[in-house]
Amino acid sequence: MTTPPIVMTEQEKLLMQQILKKHSLQCSRCHLPIEELDCYCRHCGKALRPYMGFWYDHGGIFLCTLIAGPVSLLPLWLSRKLGIRAKICWSAGILLASVYILYALRQSYLLFKQAFSLMM
Ligand SMILES: [Zn+2]
Repeated sequence: MTTPPIVMTEQEKLLMQQILKKHSLQCSRCHLPIEELDCYCRHCGKALRPYMGFWYDHGGIFLCTLIAGPVSLLPLWLSRKLGIRAKICWSAGILLASVYILYALRQSYLLFKQAFSLMM
């Protein structure tokens, strides 16, 4: 015994299409379909999960350190791309660089102060 084929009305077909469209995941950048467990888009490489984008990788952390100094510790420790050893190494580097920059700023301030006191 065979089951009769399912006959859908136009309205039902439209509803079915809407449901399928809603549930099929797609990349927010290239709009191509992606799988639920993908971490990156298979088509354009966009990071699909939080804390995995450019700012959470080595290049992003470096750039953030250049722009905002020790603020880059935030994306560093939120990152899911870097391991604990990389995070510790980066933290030490960022802190050393910050201390050096503060020291250099203080030295240049003292130099300016001395130069101005000689002019007066
Ligand atoms: Zn994509």
